[in-house]
Amino acid sequence: MSAFREYLNLVRKGKLFQVIYHVTRKCNARCVSCFSWKRSSIDTPELSLAEVERITHSMPDFPWLLLSGGEPFLREDLPAVVSLFYKNSAVRHVTLPTNALMPDRIRSMTRELCASAREATVNLVISIDGLGSEHDRLRGCPGNFEALRETWEKVAELRQSLPNLSVKFHTVLSNQNYLHFDEIRDFVGGLKPDLHTFDFLRGTPADSSLTLPPEEKLPELSRKIKAVLRHYGGYERLRKHHSLLKTVYEAVVEDYYDQFLKVLREKRQIVPCVADRMTLVLGASGEVSLCEMLEPFASFRDFDYDFASLWDCEAGVRARSQVTAGRCYCYHPCYQTINVLFRPSAVARALFKRMARL
Ligand code: SF4
Repeated sequence: MSAFREYLNLVRKGKLFQVIYHVTRKCNARCVSCFSWKRSSIDTPELSLAEVERITHSMPDFPWLLLSGGEPFLREDLPAVVSLFYKNSAVRHVTLPTNALMPDRIRSMTRELCASAREATVNLVISIDGLGSEHDRLRGCPGNFEALRETWEKVAELRQSLPNLSVKFHTVLSNQNYLHFDEIRDFVGGLKPDLHTFDFLRGTPADSSLTLPPEEKLPELSRKIKAVLRHYGGYERLRKHHSLLKTVYEAVVEDYYDQFLKVLREKRQIVPCVADRMTLVLGASGEVSLCEMLEPFASFRDFDYDFASLWDCEAGVRARSQVTAGRCYCYHPCYQTINVLFRPSAVARALFKRMARL
């Protein structure tokens, strides 16, 4: 099926598009901006590979998988997990964020999972929130910045032999690092990765002194972020493997920063959220929520790993109807970009703005 027909099909049917799976709660860093720190104290056993296999057989196919944590590379069987989603759920784009603390392991696992999922784009995302000791402080981990440089050196060369691998850097902006925006951007630019993206702090951070940058600075930061995105030209490799119209994707990602400012001011869903049908979060022990901001409504373990029964259970129907009714809002980029992407009128607006350089 052509990329365009695939896209129209997803728009028309509103089928599952993105799953975020927190493969482990374990983490070897202590980031002050972490919004999942509360989960690290849960001691329910994490899903085994056999359980993941049952889940992937039961779920409908979907193209977009983000494996998060904790630190995903702490999971010993990470390549096997990716392989299950690739074979059983037809996943074709895998995003893997990492704190970059284990250079050799990240390199070998990345090579293994890229080789076993050749038709998928694998997007390795290295977190960078500052330079040198400032990065180490924000990640709660001495030596993290040096490990980051080593990881970059080890994975950058893999791109030569693995055409389905892209490596990007990602920065979470808060009141504690926004003044260093230019330094971080320039350092990353010198490394020449595939992309450098930015998020604004979200959720409840582990360190309560962290907040968003001052409101009056946000429009300027948004303009700078858009300039960085244009400099890199988006996911060059995405076009090859997922082929969902690179220009559309870039326009949608840029548009997100305008949506972000509007959501902050108006405190409502600006573009109706598709998390009621197109996204899902799978927790480390099988618990399921519609997005990363909402609490789980059920667990695969309570439904014999059967997706249909879990999705249609009373709590699931109730959770979805709350989203459809617009009872929640957020500026989480993983969802706001998808909300625009699957609403043709919003895509047209984003494209127009990009062409007019607004
Ligand atoms: S608006 Fe935000 S909080 Fe509400 S369902 Fe969508 S992603 Fe979740």
